[in-house]
Amino acid sequence: MRRMKQDDSYEDGQQRAAPPSTGDMSAEEFRRHGHALIDWISDYFTEIEARPVLAQVKPRELIEKLPPAPPATGEPMDAILADVDRLIVPALTHWNHPSFFAYFATSASAPGIFGELLSAAFDVKSLLWRTAPAAAELEEVALSWLRQMLGLPPQFAGVIYDTASISSLHAIAAAREHLNLDIREQGLSGRPDLPLLRVYASEHSHSAIDKAVIALGLGQRALRKIPADADFRMDAEALAHAVAEDKQNGLLPFCVVATVGTTSTTSIDPVARIAGICERHHLWLHVDAAYAGSAGIVPELRPLVLDGCDRADSLTLNPHKWLFTPFDLSVLYCRRIEVLHRAFSLVPEFLRAPAAETEGVRNGADYGVQLGRRFRSLKLWMILCYFGHDGLAARIREHCRLARLFASWVEDSPDWELLAPVPLSVVCFRARPAARAGETADAERAARLDALNERLMHAANSTGSLFISHTRLHDKFTLRLAVGNIRTTEQHVRRAWELLNEQLALLT
Ligand SMILES: *Cc1c(COP(=O)(O)O)cnc(C)c1O
Repeated sequence: MRRMKQDDSYEDGQQRAAPPSTGDMSAEEFRRHGHALIDWISDYFTEIEARPVLAQVKPRELIEKLPPAPPATGEPMDAILADVDRLIVPALTHWNHPSFFAYFATSASAPGIFGELLSAAFDVKSLLWRTAPAAAELEEVALSWLRQMLGLPPQFAGVIYDTASISSLHAIAAAREHLNLDIREQGLSGRPDLPLLRVYASEHSHSAIDKAVIALGLGQRALRKIPADADFRMDAEALAHAVAEDKQNGLLPFCVVATVGTTSTTSIDPVARIAGICERHHLWLHVDAAYAGSAGIVPELRPLVLDGCDRADSLTLNPHKWLFTPFDLSVLYCRRIEVLHRAFSLVPEFLRAPAAETEGVRNGADYGVQLGRRFRSLKLWMILCYFGHDGLAARIREHCRLARLFASWVEDSPDWELLAPVPLSVVCFRARPAARAGETADAERAARLDALNERLMHAANSTGSLFISHTRLHDKFTLRLAVGNIRTTEQHVRRAWELLNEQLALLT
């Protein structure tokens, strides 16, 4: 890896410059460092596999290496960049490493990185249309394109937020506004006229939904968790029963969150059946498709992931998860965008825009908690343009193939077992060495298998050659291999399988 710090001068003989006493870096300096930085990033990507995926540092190691007090006078840029290389990079877990298989594997693609760079340079705040017309209009165009790629109905208008946690929070806030209980004005506290409001989600739904009910003042007791079936999907009958029971008890059900692609196993709730229940009881249906939603752009996967989603009131997906977009960018599609507007629009005098600028265009601040918003649509638009629908679909299709391939090795081996179906690009599995398979199934043996798999995961991760994570399924310690990085190829998945087997042999 090229070092940023040159000795004392540049090749062209110019001295390294300390910052000027006023104003920003000179244009010349900016150009020089900018070129060097892009070179460095290119090398970072081509040589990333030489680095450990999981940061091999101890807690507080970086803090101890940095000065406790800020510099009184400025330093030359190349000294700062040299510190990035020397101190910051070793403390990184490399999410862009092709052997990153933990949690959900994500990636910053090249056009996305360029989009981020330009967005930082423009630094617009998209609050009113006039503060960033390009951001307001590009958001509309990019999200309309993405909606068409997903085959969702044209009534679904999109808004960009930072994360799915925030997208879902806004969706549930819209559902609450849709009740017409004047909660926007009167709030929830000190209101004996209100029964307990209920939100439903499966026991495998994301903790973001719990956080949303906490933040919205509904309280965690408002969230009723619905049991899942043997394949980790919400039991629609149990949902229907819970709603009926709550109504009978005088509670006010108002929202159901269906998960398309749960965090542990990527299981897919039966959205069409859930939609039927929501329609019968006039409940807002929000679909959390943060990870799996992107697979809806693949024609043959769409029926699996988006069946029934056209009947939802809102749906969130994260291009920053599986659409090769640098963090952060989450999309909320909403069938009733005017309800979201009603929930959040608040225009103080200093933000009043001429009437001619309010017709047919969006003021971003009217659709959420934030006033200023980043120009996130630029990177998404650049990604859609660069790869095209077919290119993006091909990459997601390949990730699913790699996950199925890995799952087939697990299934064919006497030493391993699958612990969940593999509908998309995540494999849940564990080691179960054949020599031990004949033993009686007692609690002690279960604990031994848990401990073995946990040791195996740590041992594999500490090699630095890959990074996998875990979950707990049917009370078993479960390894998770998530494929999703744009640079991951069959060779990386094959190497992961070999490495896990090597580590297993060392432990047994
Ligand atoms: C990843 C994920 C989230 C949280 O995503 P953020 O964008 O980090 O908030 C929520 N729900 C599901 C189903 C997810 O997979």
